[in-house]
Amino acid sequence: MTDEKHKPCVYLVGSGPGDAELLTVRGAQLLKTADCVIYDKLVNPELLKFARPDAEIIYVPKRIGKGSFTQEQINELILAKASEYRIIVRLKGGDPCVFARAAEEALLLANAGIEFEIVPGITAAIAAAEYAGIMLTDRNYSSQLVFVTGQEADNKQISNIDWELLAKFRGTIVFYMGMGNLETIVRRLTEEGMREDTPAAIISNATFPNQRILKAPMNLINQMSIEQKFEAPAIVVLGAAAESDYRLNWFMKKPLFGKNIVVTRDEKGNADFASRIVRHGGNPIKVDTIRLKALTNTTRFIEAVQKISTYDWIIFTSGNGVSILFEFLSGIGKDARIFGSAKIACIGKPTAERLAEFGIKADFVPTVFTSKQLARQLIAFTNLHNKKVLLLRSELGNDELVSILANGNAKTDDVSLYTAVPAETEYQWLKGKISEGTVDWLTFASPFSAEVFFGKISAELVNSTDVRIASIGPITTERLKKLTVKITTEASEHTIEGLVEAIEEYANDKYL
Ligand code: SAH
Repeated sequence: MTDEKHKPCVYLVGSGPGDAELLTVRGAQLLKTADCVIYDKLVNPELLKFARPDAEIIYVPKRIGKGSFTQEQINELILAKASEYRIIVRLKGGDPCVFARAAEEALLLANAGIEFEIVPGITAAIAAAEYAGIMLTDRNYSSQLVFVTGQEADNKQISNIDWELLAKFRGTIVFYMGMGNLETIVRRLTEEGMREDTPAAIISNATFPNQRILKAPMNLINQMSIEQKFEAPAIVVLGAAAESDYRLNWFMKKPLFGKNIVVTRDEKGNADFASRIVRHGGNPIKVDTIRLKALTNTTRFIEAVQKISTYDWIIFTSGNGVSILFEFLSGIGKDARIFGSAKIACIGKPTAERLAEFGIKADFVPTVFTSKQLARQLIAFTNLHNKKVLLLRSELGNDELVSILANGNAKTDDVSLYTAVPAETEYQWLKGKISEGTVDWLTFASPFSAEVFFGKISAELVNSTDVRIASIGPITTERLKKLTVKITTEASEHTIEGLVEAIEEYANDKYL
């Protein structure tokens, strides 16, 4: 409940057009602190990852259909939540005030004496045009820009849209919500004297991996959009700007654009992998095959931690291991100082980066990021004879690392600090997608996730389709081969980024 000292504030926040990373920093900060988030249909649900786990999240889709809300109901809800909570984020697609009835919501709050703030977002017209390489205000042909709502077009009563003016407008016209009324829009403009061959463009699902663009003269575009099944949400651009140079269409030219790529790690790992795929233009499909389980309550682990500063070298073979250790240390009120003068080695760059987050600079990172090379190169780097080595890693790690260290006469304690177990995941829908040919890539970043995955989906099914398989490195590849899976490519740098690059290189070689 709110009191005088903690007055509620409702933040009308723009979520941006789609791609979750186009949210403003301010928007993300507010989402992180919000007690309650009320969000619209056009908001990318990925953004809710910023919200606190205990925040109340309310979805308020408008329009027709079950579970939909009227603006009046949303207004009531906002007021109700403002009496219950202190920080309420009202998250709206694009910019909160562009064709979004924010005025109504803000006025409602003003009348009720409730504090509010408005946090702008990137509006769909701007994002769609820029993600399609359309320059809305190129000085050579457009010194004016107008945003129009297409939803009014059908309205036979008094319209606020000045069709006569628009038909004469020498600049760029952008329609929001124009898809349902495109025929009427074109007809009204033509009736008022606009040239039928005015360049037009439709950009649907802008900034998403399923973004599409259609360019045509104005009089043909509606029919073509129906034939090609263009759907809302879409922006319609009219004017010379719509013609735009095809070389400027940077987003859809990315090598992974339009590729459906299945990621098969644990939930957190998949989130990281997916956002890298999005950055490369691909469409990630997250399948959480495994769940990580800390093993930090075993006597063996606790004893190792107690004498951790007595080791000469401590070795990490994954970023997950680093995070799990530091979570444990933080729980017992300790930090990196517990290592004393022990030196730290790790398997690769991402693990070194994770260590750096905790203030540690790794003393050794091999040039090739495999456990085998880690052991071999470490022995070449330093004399491990009779040295005490602590290996902190997954229970599922292989024996090779330990035996190479033994060859170097190191005294190694191999201590598990986590393990992976199969996650409870439904695979039936994915089988369907694989069979119908809508999956382009399956990716594997560990032997265990490959095993769990192919325990659920048969290798024969996958091999019988055109689905491509990418593996992070030799150990995962070996396991995939054992599972009789045909591998398309293996990452040359054995990291998630390396895996993305391998797929990208393959796409470059084969399709361009
Ligand atoms: N406040 C929003 C607009 C809401 S009106 C903003 O500032 O963007 C909804 C309309 O926005 C849709 O009908 C469509 O025309 C447009 N729109 C929203 N997201 C879009 C997207 N990702 N791609 C294309 N158009 C989009």
